[in-house]
Amino acid sequence: MDQQVALVTGAQQGIGRGIASVMAARAYHVVVWDLDPEAVAETARELGGTGFAVDVADFRAVADAVAQVEELVGPVAVLVNNAGINRDRMLHRMSEDEWDQVVAVDMKGPFNVMRHVVPRMRERKSGRIINISSASWQGNVGQANYAAAKAGVIGLTKTAARELARFNITVNAICPGFIDTPMTRRMPPEAFQVMLDKIPMGRIGTPEDVGRVVAFLASSDAAYVTGDVINVGGGMVL
Ligand code: NAD
Repeated sequence: MDQQVALVTGAQQGIGRGIASVMAARAYHVVVWDLDPEAVAETARELGGTGFAVDVADFRAVADAVAQVEELVGPVAVLVNNAGINRDRMLHRMSEDEWDQVVAVDMKGPFNVMRHVVPRMRERKSGRIINISSASWQGNVGQANYAAAKAGVIGLTKTAARELARFNITVNAICPGFIDTPMTRRMPPEAFQVMLDKIPMGRIGTPEDVGRVVAFLASSDAAYVTGDVINVGGGMVL
């Protein structure tokens, strides 16, 4: 295949879908990973890419899926770890399960995918990895599990950047602020408005606002950028 392959996790909706559509518009062959086989197939069809139903929290399933992508579609040139969940609750009421689920998907998920994609990128001496963290990594009331996992992603990103620089692989993180997706539309209206009021640019972000920064980091324009964290939040500070 002539096209470069961009693998985007959590791409059946929301930010992942926005990233996948920007990358498809820039001539990448997009590999859509998410949980629902029908939604994955539908998204892949619309974007002219390939879909896989994969749970990023499952180490073995990720190993098999990465092998299948490389064999059936082509070498992964760009990996975007976007899949994520939240289970918000005040720390003193948070259950063990709420903690474990968020850490499994949001922090272990990116490790699982990188663990299987990175050896192949190292062999090819080329690759771009973009991890979607969150403005919440610096702390946000009701998000102890999520903030901890998203801060973990930044540590993972900065360590991988140092390990992989000599293999011509860059690793960066993006921290979206408040973006219009099913995740944020699930919030109670008052909480939604509180977040909107924090945005100096006066509007909620779009998934494509994030997708265009991913495309920049994946491009040759960003060849000398690694181990960095870019906020995409219209100036929002939590
Ligand atoms: P979303 O809930 O709309 O979409 C997340 C997608 O990830 C869904 O399609 C879901 O099915 C998929 N997913 C969840 N668990 C998965 C798993 N185990 N394996 C594979 N796929 C899985 O959320 P979103 O708002 O689009 O968020 C995307 C990413 O951006 C997440 O990592 C989120 O933490 C981060 N983020 C979002 C915002 C925001 O304002 N929306 C802000 C900061 C960071």
